[in-house]
Amino acid sequence: MLDNLTQRLARVVKTMRGQARLTEDNIAEMLREVRLALLEADVALPVIKEFISRVREKAVGQEVIGSLTPGQALVGVVHCELTALMGGEQAGLDLATQPPAIILMAGLQGAGKTTTVGKLAKLLIDKQKKKVLTVSCDVYRPAAIDQLKAVTAQVGAEFFPSTPDQKPVDIATAAIDYARRHYFDVLLVDTAGRLAIDEAMMAEIQALHAAVKPVETLFVVDAMLGQDAVNTARAFNEALPLTGIVLTKLDGDARGGAALSVRHVTGKPIKFTGVGEKLTGLDEFFPERMASRILG
Ligand code: GDP
Repeated sequence: MLDNLTQRLARVVKTMRGQARLTEDNIAEMLREVRLALLEADVALPVIKEFISRVREKAVGQEVIGSLTPGQALVGVVHCELTALMGGEQAGLDLATQPPAIILMAGLQGAGKTTTVGKLAKLLIDKQKKKVLTVSCDVYRPAAIDQLKAVTAQVGAEFFPSTPDQKPVDIATAAIDYARRHYFDVLLVDTAGRLAIDEAMMAEIQALHAAVKPVETLFVVDAMLGQDAVNTARAFNEALPLTGIVLTKLDGDARGGAALSVRHVTGKPIKFTGVGEKLTGLDEFFPERMASRILG
């Protein structure tokens, strides 16, 4: 078990009880512990560097009030900065548009896109009483279309069929037309992912984005990727005007460092977290709770 950061800092600062202020000198050693804690939580190195210098800036000169130890005061600053960096407030979906509100899912294969489509459909049906249509534009893996069909049936949404011989843009356009004619509130568009980023995949999803003009473009990323999530996030953010992020597989061992890294490189809000394979396993994202998870 990892010690939590407060305890670790308490050990470091034993010698400096009674100091009334956080200074460049007395926080240097503590910041090394913060750096280690973030590394252990799998936050990407460049992100840690920038974060530490922000914390230093905020912390130096701060008074240590009341019964707080300098370590506790610093943890307070770290927690506050982590929360702020992850967006501060909870950010939801923005579906305010002429229906159908189209949500495009993007991400690598295995990130959890199809599962997340099912989870989102369930949430929109159960909590917001929306009429939801799903469609798969993954023409490379016939199993992907079947998987979406099965997931859609489980949550009581409607599935718009597609086949591997069709073009992704044609599939999406036909689904939009169907959704309009049948008064659907939301259309969830699942897309193909590759095992690694490649130009063909990016060009395809850019063409899809241009054709469907989604109100939400969600980047789905596996939290277990840790530091590797950064490069994927950067590539997708450069290719598409993302409106939000879904961080999946947070039910596993991931300490959540990917949340900070992905938010940092994209500047886009994390809107949901995936917490299990079941279709009920989608939570809204709360920056403050994630900050606590990262700090251990
Ligand atoms: P896609 O290729 O991006 O569409 O990914 P899938 O939706 O097929 O998911 C890949 C695997 O990850 C499947 O076995 C899912 O059950 C699993 N998965 C998806 N989201 C989560 C999650 O939040 N937690 C866990 N533990 N597994 C997940």
